Amino acid sequence: MRRICVFLGSNPGTSPAYLAATRALGAELARRGLATVYGGAKVGLMGELADSALAAGGEVIGIIPEALRDKELAHQGLTSLKVVASMHERKAAMADLADGFIALPGGLGTLEELCEVLTWAQLGFHKKPCGLLDVGGYYAPLCTFLDHAVAEGFVMPAHRAMLLSDPSPAALLDRFASYQAPTVTKWVTKPQAL
Ligand code: AMP
Repeated sequence: MRRICVFLGSNPGTSPAYLAATRALGAELARRGLATVYGGAKVGLMGELADSALAAGGEVIGIIPEALRDKELAHQGLTSLKVVASMHERKAAMADLADGFIALPGGLGTLEELCEVLTWAQLGFHKKPCGLLDVGGYYAPLCTFLDHAVAEGFVMPAHRAMLLSDPSPAALLDRFASYQAPTVTKWVTKPQAL
């Protein structure tokens, strides 16, 4: 693995634990020589991640849509900042560059980005690890919901299991290093047309 993409809040959240975990992840990525790929903003947890990875000597690649750069939200001190035309282009560029995906606490943007890489993984479009850095149980309700989706027959257990979760950046990255993507059909019940 050379580069890890991190999805995370453009807000800092209410608990100082979110900032602390963000700093710990940025430093751990740099310590391992893994480049950080993220949305390129200087605000919220996003800015904190970039600052902490850079401060620890890491490489940080930001990918930001033109519209957000124009709002002067782009981080100006990154190793590289790529400006793209749209949110769709940004997600494609981040997905292409990264060898794995981590979601720190965040809001709708973070959820949307995480769900996209997970749905692509369950279709077998990529075999890269996806994980939650679950700070203070922030993602427990999402995990409960995903278990519910399995119980109700909408998600395969093997696809639910693709989403790794750990409160420790080092432990999560260790699990990424040994991750093997499952080869399971997407369908819980085989469609009649297949
Ligand atoms: P949210 O979780 O809603 O705060 O959104 C954060 C995620 O969406 C990040 O991973 C970004 O890729 C993207 N995003 C949302 N807001 C911004 C912003 N102001 N600047 C750059 N990226 C953003």
